[in-house]
Amino acid sequence: MTSPWFTLYARCPACDLVGPPESADYAGNPDGTINWTSSRPPEIRCGECGHLHTVTEHNLLALDAEHVCIRCAGATACPASAARVQCADCGLIGFGPASSDDAVRTLTTDTERLRRLQDYNRVRAAKAAAGLAATETRRTDR
Ligand SMILES: [Zn+2]
Ligand SMILES: [Zn+2]
Repeated sequence: MTSPWFTLYARCPACDLVGPPESADYAGNPDGTINWTSSRPPEIRCGECGHLHTVTEHNLLALDAEHVCIRCAGATACPASAARVQCADCGLIGFGPASSDDAVRTLTTDTERLRRLQDYNRVRAAKAAAGLAATETRRTDR
């Protein structure tokens, strides 16, 4: 397997969706590809729910389908089960082949909405803890 990290498609054990990872931590080869023979399996962060999980060559999904980008019309290889796909040409993340199923599409948008809400609440809590909440209120009142 010599693919770059953003093609590490695996089903997320937390949200059950397949999409391009938001980030990946892995042992690399000098050419930038993943070193699968390392004792440390790659750890990826789910691009949908933010869950951190490891991938092995066994739960890695085959790029057996093709996604056509709505922005640049570029074709990107992806798993047929992908709800989201990142365009290899322009980087735009669009709906993948699995999103033609309404249930998958709804789960995808709901999961992303929940993630944004959790991120928002985390930032708010951090600001409150740092005593910045009052500053923010004054700014909006102006
Ligand atoms: Zn997830
Ligand atoms: Zn594109």
